[in-house]
Amino acid sequence: MFKSLFGSSPAPSSEPGLLERLKAGIQKTRAGLMEKIEDAVSGRKEIDADVLEELEYALITADIGAKTTAEILELIRQRVDRHQVGDIAELKSLIREHLLEILQATEKPVPLVKDPPAVVMVVGVNGAGKTTSIGKLTRRLQSEGRTVLLCAADTFRAAAIEQLEVWAERTGAGLIRQQPGSDPSAVLFDALQAAKARKVDYVIVDTAGRLHTKTNLMAELEKMRRTAARVIPEAPHEVLLVIEATTGQNGLEQARKFTESSAVTGIILTKLDGTAKGGVVVAISRELNLPIRYVGVGEQLDDLLPFEPENFVASLFD
Ligand code: GDP
Repeated sequence: MFKSLFGSSPAPSSEPGLLERLKAGIQKTRAGLMEKIEDAVSGRKEIDADVLEELEYALITADIGAKTTAEILELIRQRVDRHQVGDIAELKSLIREHLLEILQATEKPVPLVKDPPAVVMVVGVNGAGKTTSIGKLTRRLQSEGRTVLLCAADTFRAAAIEQLEVWAERTGAGLIRQQPGSDPSAVLFDALQAAKARKVDYVIVDTAGRLHTKTNLMAELEKMRRTAARVIPEAPHEVLLVIEATTGQNGLEQARKFTESSAVTGIILTKLDGTAKGGVVVAISRELNLPIRYVGVGEQLDDLLPFEPENFVASLFD
């Protein structure tokens, strides 16, 4: 039986090679941020206004967010003894600790699931990497010895169903689908019945991401949640919002719409590999007050890594 939604497997930090993979995944952010921090202080004797300004630039460029950046600068102002530039390592550890604190503040334990199937709804705008992340999550759960059934509840686009079918074939997971245009809640209902009958561990539900009919979409997601709860009272056990790391403030606004209306419980942050602005992990987690559950670091099936605050800051600073 499950200890938690994502299995009773060991903590992510003990997964072999995880830190190295995370480091490689956020290489662009790491390089940019560290280089700028070092540039800001190299050759300086004092932490003066210029140094602070450069540090501010480094943090803002990495998309850590204005609020967090201001707090870090204030901490530096307060703590650096007699305005001497201490060891650069000291400065980095100050930044590191603050980022860790913020990420830890939004951590939430993964819900307990007494009886399978655990139901995971995946939401987010089109193009963010939802389908790819579902494929990767499926592979990850399978590697923990779990069985997975996929539910093609983005019935608005025929292509979305086909795309999910490709991932089902690639991973060998089952797939429940209906005709394009059918009621997403009906597909979900079918999938949950099938999962119970087949004694599957996880149902992962793909949902539509069209934003131009925002209100309808949110109502649709709400209806799906009610449908799930009718079949399995605690379902959906998790609602994961997929956001691109390359997203700016606009993306954050869109994400907020989902969190306001679809009871999101956690975030999958994709495309961390493609950006030097990976500090957005901190901004997103903080602004939405949600834990990051996974990060996407590439297009391959095993490019989805579990997220832990300690690992993330270690991959940036160590
Ligand atoms: P959806 O419309 O939200 O379902 O998005 P898709 O899953 O189709 O992904 C859109 C594009 O982003 C595809 O080309 C994916 O290969 C790519 N993608 C998804 N996740 C990642 C990631 O973590 N890193 C990179 N580099 N590309 C990704």
